[in-house]
Amino acid sequence: MRYAKQELAKGWKQENLQNSHIVVTGSNNLASFILADLTAMGFGKITRIGENSLQFLDFYNMNPDTEFEEIQGEVLNEELAKDYIGKPDFFVDASEGREKQICIGYAIKNSIQAISASCSKESYKIKVIKKNESLDEIINFHKNEKNNGIINAIIASGITADEIRKRIMPLPDDKTLSRLSASNLEDKINKKVLLVGAGAIGTFAGIGLAMAGADVDVIDFDNVEESNLNRQILFYNSVGKYKAEVMAEKLSKLGNFKGIVRKVDENYKLEKYYEIILSCVDNAKARYYLDWLSYKTKTPLLNSGTSFIQGSVMPYIPGKTACLDCQGFGMLSQTKDKEEVGSCYEPTTIISNQITGALLVNQINKMHEDTATIKYNSNRGIEKVLTLRNCLAGCEKNGEK
Ligand SMILES: [Zn+2]
Repeated sequence: MRYAKQELAKGWKQENLQNSHIVVTGSNNLASFILADLTAMGFGKITRIGENSLQFLDFYNMNPDTEFEEIQGEVLNEELAKDYIGKPDFFVDASEGREKQICIGYAIKNSIQAISASCSKESYKIKVIKKNESLDEIINFHKNEKNNGIINAIIASGITADEIRKRIMPLPDDKTLSRLSASNLEDKINKKVLLVGAGAIGTFAGIGLAMAGADVDVIDFDNVEESNLNRQILFYNSVGKYKAEVMAEKLSKLGNFKGIVRKVDENYKLEKYYEIILSCVDNAKARYYLDWLSYKTKTPLLNSGTSFIQGSVMPYIPGKTACLDCQGFGMLSQTKDKEEVGSCYEPTTIISNQITGALLVNQINKMHEDTATIKYNSNRGIEKVLTLRNCLAGCEKNGEK
């Protein structure tokens, strides 16, 4: 049941993940989020060399199918590398400085499949390590990265974990990425945010918001189910409880984070002032009412959605972009009263939800200068596309431009 949603993907072989041993180095957010991905997806044995930076996650108890061990040390010479890293199926380097050099050198010398990642508050970099590759070139590639990012750590860890999955358990439509270097300036989020939906995208939006310092109310009426656990990493010990309450309980340790258990429908009204609404809902009806609420109160809305390998973040900024309904050419108003069927039978995994949740938070500080729609695709990476500027003829929201 835990993996039901990912096992719907054509060609998915959970046993390939279950039979793999992965070693991850690093004590930073990047390493911690990579570990969260691997654990949620159900890799069988995971060793971390370093310490947990995410106190709201207990890696030892996140997944009973994963044998997790933590070595609270640093790899400072080749002997230690041999002892600590050994011969895993895959080695993941998210460490820094001298440790990075020793670890990657060890992986190259011993022909261990490996990937190296780094990030800062300005950028992130990922590189799959090839046989006989030059150590200097890899170290140079990661030069100047400090591994202190938050949003960049969530994005980079998702891409890194996806590339590991593609190599341990390839799927028919996969295209592997072997080198990625992206600039993304992240900043603190000093805003009052309404987060609607504490599901798969909402989990990572909530984590990103809390870590970036936002003041958050999260609204969701759903309970945690076992089939959520392969993606919704905060809920591993909370099956049956309200998602909004569990999320608020765990993330309020980082700042102001309140949970509200209720449904968003035609009767929902904003109870206080928010500077931004984030939509992480999974149905047209709720999305339609959020679009309407945003129009009525002139509150900017960022809407998210995902499929198995893709995700998107679309803004509705009243006065600056068309509403969500017009951006979808009337799809929302046409489908809002239809019974939603089918979405439960679509495969889904942690990766597209995690990256989309981070991209959603990432747009909060950027959306007024850059109204682009952001798209993620597992095979292509992250791209921007233009957002429709004006509502279509016939839209009730037209008069307000
Ligand atoms: Zn419109």
